[in-house]
Amino acid sequence: MSGIDDLPPLREVIKTHDLAAKKSLGQNFLLDLNLTAKIARLAGDLTQADVLEVGPGPGGLTRGLLAEGARRVLAIEKDPRCMPALAEIAAAYPGRLTAINGDALDTNPLAHLTPPIKIAANLPYNVGTELLVRWLTPPDWPPFWDSLTLMFQREVAQRIVATPGSKAYGRLALLAQWRTDARIVMELPPEAFSPPPKVNSAVVHLTALPAPRFPANPATLNSVVAAAFNQRRKMLRSALKSVSPAIEDHLHAAGIKPTERAEQVPLEAFCALSRSLDES
Ligand code: SAM
Repeated sequence: MSGIDDLPPLREVIKTHDLAAKKSLGQNFLLDLNLTAKIARLAGDLTQADVLEVGPGPGGLTRGLLAEGARRVLAIEKDPRCMPALAEIAAAYPGRLTAINGDALDTNPLAHLTPPIKIAANLPYNVGTELLVRWLTPPDWPPFWDSLTLMFQREVAQRIVATPGSKAYGRLALLAQWRTDARIVMELPPEAFSPPPKVNSAVVHLTALPAPRFPANPATLNSVVAAAFNQRRKMLRSALKSVSPAIEDHLHAAGIKPTERAEQVPLEAFCALSRSLDES
């Protein structure tokens, strides 16, 4: 018995279904069900929510989410070898788990989910960052999800929650913090995974704000922030020259010194700069 359900321990599941980890799919599995239950709890109260889980693998976090009472879990997994293990979990939680064999980058989950929706994932880091950017930039806000609970390489997690003046502060921090509350809620050493990755990991919890923290047009804000951080060592008056010939006036209007560098400028000032540019 595994402790959180009547299913076999994950090491046994991996053996039975021959799930030797594949590097090409970024497979570093969490096998400690106490840990996966803890991560599931970090996603908040699941009893009234549907959960989208991306990259369930042998199902450690899936089992945590279900044991924590998720109303329904939709799990999207690219590796077909994992499907029999996920089918066993579905049988143990009748009607509550749907597992789809597919690439999360090409699969629309919405047909299977009813709001409120929470997203939880322990994904390969490149896929995780790409999905995070997509989830943070939907055509309309608020998005289809209420919260994201995602495992990242610790360095990426630090970039998401970074504040002005730090090296980690950049586009990802601004993108995340403009429309969510983002916090690092857990740190994990390499030994927590099998096989252990080379780096430390961290879980980030992001809660969608009902509206952006400060008003701004998303496209303008995105292009200003991209230009500012593409040349992060330059003063803003030259880094942003291509954005507008009158950039110094706009910087003054937004309360930003033209000699400042992007990494010193808070989100509120980037939003004010975007509004000033749009008004002209
Ligand atoms: N969630 C499991 C756990 O915590 O043990 C597995 C984590 S492992 C880091 C990442 C999982 O994502 C693997 O099972 C891998 O096959 C799957 N995966 C990789 N790329 C994916 C993609 N594009 N779409 C869906 N799943 C993917």
